[in-house]
Parts: sequence; C-alpha cells; structure tokens
Amino acid sequence: MVECPICGREVEKLVKAEIEGSIIEVCEDCAKKYGKILEEKSRKIKVIKDKEIKEIEEVDLIEDFFVAIKKRREELGLSIKELAKLVKEKESVIKRIEDGKLEPDINLARKLEKILKIKILSKVERKRVGKKKEIIPKLTIGDVVEIK
Ligand SMILES: [Zn+2]
Repeated sequence: MVECPICGREVEKLVKAEIEGSIIEVCEDCAKKYGKILEEKSRKIKVIKDKEIKEIEEVDLIEDFFVAIKKRREELGLSIKELAKLVKEKESVIKRIEDGKLEPDINLARKLEKILKIKILSKVERKRVGKKKEIIPKLTIGDVVEIK
C-alpha cells in the first residue's frame, strides 16, 4: 500500500497525473478530481514510438547519398534552385544536403529519388542498426506497457 500525497489515503497504487502544471503521483481519485491522469496517454505514446523506430530502421540513406544527388542533378542539367523547386524545398536545404551537411528525411529522400530517378535509400541490414539496437532493447508489447 502507498499513501497518496494529496488526500493521505492508503491505496494499492498511485497514478501519474498532471495537476496544476506539475506531474505527480497521486491516488486515482485525486488524479481525476484535481487534474488528469497521464498514465494512459504515456503508454500510448510509448507504443507509437516503438513503431516509429521500427519504421526508421527499415530504410536508411546510402552512405554517399549526397554525392549521388549532386552527380545525378548535374547529369540532368538541373540547378540547385530548380531541384529545390521540384521537391518543394528551400535552395539552402538542397545545398546543405549536397554538401553532406544535412540528411534529408525519408519523405524528402523519396521525393529526390522519384525526381532524380536514383536510389539513395536502402533497406537497412540488421547489422547496421546494431548501435540502435543496443540502446533500444527488444521490447514485447507487454514490456512497453510496463514502461512509464
Ligand atoms: Zn488521493
């Protein structure tokens, strides 16, 4: 049993709630009475994040994507400005991408692939996500729900 810091009642478990702008653990009754329960929400966010990570892991930019973009753009006789217009991006963004200073997000990368007819995205091999996998341990749905 744990004691609720607001009403002092002993309850089986406390829930995370947002009360007057701060996040505290209180009993469910106090959470509903004085603020809103955050627990359900945070669980959902966690699950979505897990899905997002998986999606990111599926495709990745090739190592010299910026070389490929620049080479192909020049082959097609396009200026940076023209290419920027075609993918609806700022000229400076395309320039930074070609300089290898900026990685396009997946959406932009796909647009560039389509317009330039090149491949700059590749399916990520499991080995390449080794680093990520260390940080993100394999979670089952059950584990994810337990995380707060
Ligand atoms: Zn309480």
